[in-house]
Amino acid sequence: THYIYSFGDGKAEGNASEKNLLGGKGANLAEMAILGLPVPAGFTISTECCNDYFRAGGSLPENLYQELDQAMAGIERHMGKKFGDPENPLLVSCRSGARRSMPGMMETVLNVGLCTKTIPGLIKQTDNEWFVYDAYRRLIMMYSDVVMEKAEGIEPSDGMGIRLHLEMMLNDLKNDRGYETDTEITPSEMKELCEKFKRKIRENIGVEFPDTPREQLLGSIGAVFKSWNGKRAISYRRIEHIPDGWGTAVNVQSMVFGNMGKDSATGVAFTRDPASGANVFYGEWLPNAQGEDVVAGIRTPNPLNNSNKSDHNHHLLSLQEVMPGIYDELFNIRTILEKHYRDMQDIEFTIEQGNLYMLQCRVGKRTGAAALNMAMDMFEEGMIDEATMITRLDPKQLDEMLHPIVDPDAEKSATVLVNGLPAGPGGAFGQIVFNSEDAVHWKRTGKKVILVRDETNPEDIEGMRAAQGILTARGGMTSHAALVARGWGKCCIVGAGALKIKYDKKELHIGTRVYKEGDFLTLNGTKGVVYEGKIGMKDATANPRFKKFMSIADQYRTMKVRTNAETPRDAAQALEFGAEGIGLFRTEHMFYGADSDHPLFLLRKMILSKTRHEREIALNELFPFVKQEIKRTLEVMDGKPVNFRLLDPPLHEFVPHGLENQENLSKELGIDIEEIEKRCESLMESNPMMGHRGVRLGITFPEITQMQIKAIFEASAELIKEGKSPVPEIMIPVTCNEKELIFTKKIALKIYDQVLKAFDLDNIDHKFGTMIEIPRAALVADKMAEHAQFFSFGTNDLTQMTFGFSRDDIGGFMNEYIDHAILDADPFATLDQEAVGSLIEISVKKGRQTRPDIKLGICGEHGGDPESIEFCHRTGLTYVSCSPYRVPIARLAAAQAAI
Ligand code: ADP
Ligand code: MG
Ligand code: MG
Repeated sequence: THYIYSFGDGKAEGNASEKNLLGGKGANLAEMAILGLPVPAGFTISTECCNDYFRAGGSLPENLYQELDQAMAGIERHMGKKFGDPENPLLVSCRSGARRSMPGMMETVLNVGLCTKTIPGLIKQTDNEWFVYDAYRRLIMMYSDVVMEKAEGIEPSDGMGIRLHLEMMLNDLKNDRGYETDTEITPSEMKELCEKFKRKIRENIGVEFPDTPREQLLGSIGAVFKSWNGKRAISYRRIEHIPDGWGTAVNVQSMVFGNMGKDSATGVAFTRDPASGANVFYGEWLPNAQGEDVVAGIRTPNPLNNSNKSDHNHHLLSLQEVMPGIYDELFNIRTILEKHYRDMQDIEFTIEQGNLYMLQCRVGKRTGAAALNMAMDMFEEGMIDEATMITRLDPKQLDEMLHPIVDPDAEKSATVLVNGLPAGPGGAFGQIVFNSEDAVHWKRTGKKVILVRDETNPEDIEGMRAAQGILTARGGMTSHAALVARGWGKCCIVGAGALKIKYDKKELHIGTRVYKEGDFLTLNGTKGVVYEGKIGMKDATANPRFKKFMSIADQYRTMKVRTNAETPRDAAQALEFGAEGIGLFRTEHMFYGADSDHPLFLLRKMILSKTRHEREIALNELFPFVKQEIKRTLEVMDGKPVNFRLLDPPLHEFVPHGLENQENLSKELGIDIEEIEKRCESLMESNPMMGHRGVRLGITFPEITQMQIKAIFEASAELIKEGKSPVPEIMIPVTCNEKELIFTKKIALKIYDQVLKAFDLDNIDHKFGTMIEIPRAALVADKMAEHAQFFSFGTNDLTQMTFGFSRDDIGGFMNEYIDHAILDADPFATLDQEAVGSLIEISVKKGRQTRPDIKLGICGEHGGDPESIEFCHRTGLTYVSCSPYRVPIARLAAAQAAI
């Protein structure tokens, strides 16, 4: 094997397609060299070498050295300089670069090769002593930090890294002399500073700063490899799901200097505006500086051209004004790169004494709005085809575009109070309240509120609905509150551990700050940040371009997209977003958030009934309300399927908690309080999610099933009489064998016949099926399918039952599971394809054996997750179903899966 691939002077051994081997930076440097762009000569040491380095316990492979010498000789020939030469020394950079860009997460060392022996020669060559010592002090700062401290695993005893010490010394010098900028430092002061730096390193680390170019080079290469396993890099990989086994490449490249005087500069640019997507060249530059000054944000850069000027930087000179010739050259490169890569590029450049050099290019990161605009522009410009256009918008980014957001400009100057998990995207401000009733009440008086709770439970639903935003101290991304909030497109931050809520005083304590009921807070649910006071919002409503984009995407899609909704309002919202039906109507939800408390009261009455007779009376009272709710949603969804899931949760979830509530019920029911307490208690279960719930309720209390099915068919019959075309589907939850279906279906058929007769109809278009959410049911799907016209994979419960993880309790361990890489991702957010996915595949195969035309859908949270949607497409599902605000995401993800 060989490890090294050279580039420079119009030629390269690698190219852009070899990112796995060369890393993104190396592959693109090679590609730019081939394109004839001015890339300083260099070479890439492959990611394979990185893996061999770690395999060897952290030492460079023996057979690297000879290749390295040859490659260095190659650069020397190109540049007409020699590494370590006292007369005309070559300097290089050692740069990290992984397969996927991990901006700023790994290390880079610049100016490698400067030492006592080479400094005089470089001063003579450049006639610029300041520049040489500026370069040297940069080398010392980076090298001591990256190679001598971090790579050696040295924990500074005073908790302060060496780099910080040196930076303080540099600042002290400037303060002492009253200098504003580095360029005011005299060459001899800079030289003296370098000597002081080296003494400080000796003191703190106990090792001499290496004074031979070769030692510096080998040290840097090893340290860059090691930075693959640095703290930042590891955390970033966890978040981005980048495998540990990829490794980084090292790019050794001859240095070009942006800090050689007024005719030198460095900068970063995007070939189009990454925020808006506008087709303008956008960037920043700094005169007389090295690249990291711009990237690290230590100086305020100047605008690249005049169209980049705005209120805050209009007084700064643009590159276009200062070096018009170079600017034109750069603009020309912009055109070449865009034509070649057919996508927006993010580039790094440096100007050394009037000569332009390209140091990096990669596909640029962009906002959702920019991604949309660029994709459509490039399609219209003929740069990309339609299918490519569809793949250019990351479905996850759609979130940003569908919710109002905190005005980013105003956000910059706001006070951050606390961070939590970004559970529901978008922004919201409002007055804080501490319980659900207050939220509802304040909302009615026209106020905007933020509901602040330790955690939320189903009884808070109305308050959550009424609030602009929800903030909780506990809970995770898949907690109840998060799930519901996302479903409604509501801004929500959960698990903000620093919140201390004093319910009795109606106060919120965050550190030493105290907020009272009615105080304003602002939430950025996209980032999980809470601010003090009221910050303005920006409307990000769908634009016509977005609509057009989506309608093109729809032409590529083969799966249908439905929504999970149970109110006419959510159904209408989902239709607006392009839903093609309802995949999950959770019957129990109609009792929360209803206009009056009466239905919930009736439900409680039914639940607390002791005899069948009592229960039937309560069900009869409940019936008109249930039918009405079902009818309203069927009406909105006219002509499209609506999947009604029969009552699912364990009954005690609806039982009134707290003495006061129980007393009320006792009064209204005319049953004494002891009896109420006894009945409530008898409903308690030690494991309710695996207890008396779902189809089991319908088996012990068939009259509950009867009432619901009658409501569904009568509502449909009435709509048919009104000239509508309802398409109800009846779904039985939590089944584990086919006999449960047979039992329930018998009830359904009897009622169906009764309703047909009563309404004098021949037929009501409908389907009967089941959720597959218990592994047993998945494994006997062939038998289930004999009695079910459709399966809907309830992947929340299926995940819960497959892992044996209680969905509501993962907060206690999930973070550690991710941190230790025991799991790659939270399986409740991203479908576990390995096991849960296998169960789905088995069900699909077996289900089709007995019923070839079976309809297959998914209705868990995963139905709105792009990766999981891709899996659903591959597995051959008929549709996915997700919350209304995720419908566009699912449409796009389904289209991309089909491309
Ligand atoms: P990152 O991946 O963190 O951006 P880079 O490897 O791109 O790290 O390097 C950091 C900075 O140093 C960049 O601004 C880059 O332009 C600059 N740089 C890297 N190599 C050279 C070089 N050979 N000559 C001049 N500047 C360089
Ligand atoms: Mg870079
Ligand atoms: Mg379920």
